Amino acid sequence: MSRLNIVPFVSVDNMMKLVLHLGVERVLTDLAACIEADFRRWEAFDKTPRIASHSPVGVIELMPTSDGALYGFKYVNGHPKNLKEGLQTVTAFGVLAEVATGYPVLLSEMTILTALRTAAMSALAARWLAPPGARTMALIGNGAQAEFQALAFRAICGIGAVRLYDIDPAATAKCVRNLAGCGLELTSCTSPEEAILGAQVITTCTADKQYATILTDNMVGAGVHINAVGGDCPGKTELHRDILLRSAIFTEYTPQTRIEGEIQQLPPDHPVTELWRVMTGAAPGRQDARAITLFDSVGFAIEDFSALRYVHDRIRGTRFFEELDMIADPDEPRDLYGMLLRAQAAA
Ligand code: NAD
Repeated sequence: MSRLNIVPFVSVDNMMKLVLHLGVERVLTDLAACIEADFRRWEAFDKTPRIASHSPVGVIELMPTSDGALYGFKYVNGHPKNLKEGLQTVTAFGVLAEVATGYPVLLSEMTILTALRTAAMSALAARWLAPPGARTMALIGNGAQAEFQALAFRAICGIGAVRLYDIDPAATAKCVRNLAGCGLELTSCTSPEEAILGAQVITTCTADKQYATILTDNMVGAGVHINAVGGDCPGKTELHRDILLRSAIFTEYTPQTRIEGEIQQLPPDHPVTELWRVMTGAAPGRQDARAITLFDSVGFAIEDFSALRYVHDRIRGTRFFEELDMIADPDEPRDLYGMLLRAQAAA
């Protein structure tokens, strides 16, 4: 049996152990660095909008990309109604494979990893776009992603205060409990209007399968950065259209964001800037102190590729994975059926 047929598998349990071993804020910072490195070589990647299978209650998506040496994909769902049934809104797993052989080199849980990479991506975008010296963030939607967002903004952008709001006060209380002692100044708010008071960064991270209006135009003043995370599917947005018309809008991969992001509310030729162009100096980011910058986050395959690449590197030499006998490996490659017969004889 060659080693190529044994695939490292990172379970939820091992992902938690790996993240706790390294430290959450270190993982968030490392992921942001990996994503930025990959965004800076944007043109090396195969890119396609993710492949979505919609149903009345949610969406299941595949997110593939390759840099020519490695290929990765993530399977992810989005089911806002799951919460009421005691299930996660978003779950995911992913695969990294070697392009040279096509053999997988990693299978990993990605529910936790998605929350980490989404938060790292949000904070990375804000590091490029938010007003310098931003210290306070409003965090609207206090579900599964929320603490990761708060910690990423602390670790990567120097945010010191987070003002929390959720239509369900129990979600806010959960966040305050989980973030206690992490060094952030936390304020529970009873309305989105209260949450955004004095905030230079506004993160919206709600889940609802509709054109929601978490922020209306009159709520957003000059000079803020909006990190819009929850609008990530056709028919699922968070911001009033008028906010978009006043904002400098930044995207991951625009052909996907036009389908899924806040900008699905705008004409298809409305100008936006892809973040990789800001990172490489090909396009400007924030142009002046009064500008409203908007990161129209939907989550793109390269971010998952970066995250899988990171996990693949970090598990080497550790005990944070299991070995899966995942690829059939007959002694003679063409004798696949013979392998079955030998197994029968040995049984
Ligand atoms: P979740 O269901 O765990 O949490 C969502 C929270 O939003 C809940 O606590 C809910 O009470 C709250 N909420 C719903 N409507 C609200 C409103 N009008 N005002 C305030 N709060 C409201 O979901 P999650 O896993 O935290 O994900 C949040 C959103 O982020 C989802 O829409 C998900 O699809 C999206 N997401 C985006 C990315 C990305 O890369 N952009 C990645 C992961 C998740």
